[in-house]
Amino acid sequence: LANRAFHPEDSIIDVAGVKVGGDHLALIAGPCSVESKEQVIMIAKAAKAAGANMLRGGAFKPRTSPYAFQGMGTAGLDILLAAKKATGLPIVSELMSAEYIEEFNEKVDLVQIGARNMQNFDLLKEVGKRCTKPILLKRGLSATYEEWIMSAEYIMASGNPNVILCERGVRTYETYTRNTLDLQAIPVIKRLTHLPIIIDPSHAGGKWWLVEPMAKAAVAAGCDGLMIEVHNDPEHALCDGPQSLKPEKYTELLKQVGEIAHIV
Ligand code: PEP
Ligand code: MN
Repeated sequence: LANRAFHPEDSIIDVAGVKVGGDHLALIAGPCSVESKEQVIMIAKAAKAAGANMLRGGAFKPRTSPYAFQGMGTAGLDILLAAKKATGLPIVSELMSAEYIEEFNEKVDLVQIGARNMQNFDLLKEVGKRCTKPILLKRGLSATYEEWIMSAEYIMASGNPNVILCERGVRTYETYTRNTLDLQAIPVIKRLTHLPIIIDPSHAGGKWWLVEPMAKAAVAAGCDGLMIEVHNDPEHALCDGPQSLKPEKYTELLKQVGEIAHIV
């Protein structure tokens, strides 16, 4: 179902009125985790003013340590909804358990399946069957293209055809960066599938100053969007501060990206 051979034209996915794919760039920005209503609304307004067209925020967080902040849960989703009311930006948030699918159907516009759950096949099947919203499927930490595409296939074969892929860096021998951004994923995925592919340079590099050059390279390489972590106070963020951009930096980045997108 994902195979380009049986569907030659690019798929365009509609996320609450925002088109992704074709010539439409998804510009997703927001904090790693929802921390408070004031925080999310402040960031959402700044992201929108910069030109973002979707708001991200984790309410359920897949943390490496069980002692780290695990997210606000459903209270976080309600905060995202308040930010959507204030700005009109559609909401992107990660689903970790099938238990919450109906709640996500009500509150979230683009349902993220995180890298760590890319091969949680039972979750993929349930999302395919029960999720009424498009899915943002992140690439697993060390997943091959074939494995990643097969995970999209699980969702599609179970009944949800609206899948957007997200490259977020893969594990390599390099430890200086958090992961290694695989820009080759853009042309490869476009050759093998008709699905949109967006790039998350924040989780790829793990450092805020890597975000801008990698975002520009990704747009030049033909990606269908960018998901970028933006935080008003990265030094005190509860999660992923070191890779988060302040709103002013994000504004600058979108200006530069805009110039590249017009040339390409
Ligand atoms: C995230 O987007 O906040 C996240 C946890 O990403 P990943 O699943 O790519 O690590
Ligand atoms: Mn994060």
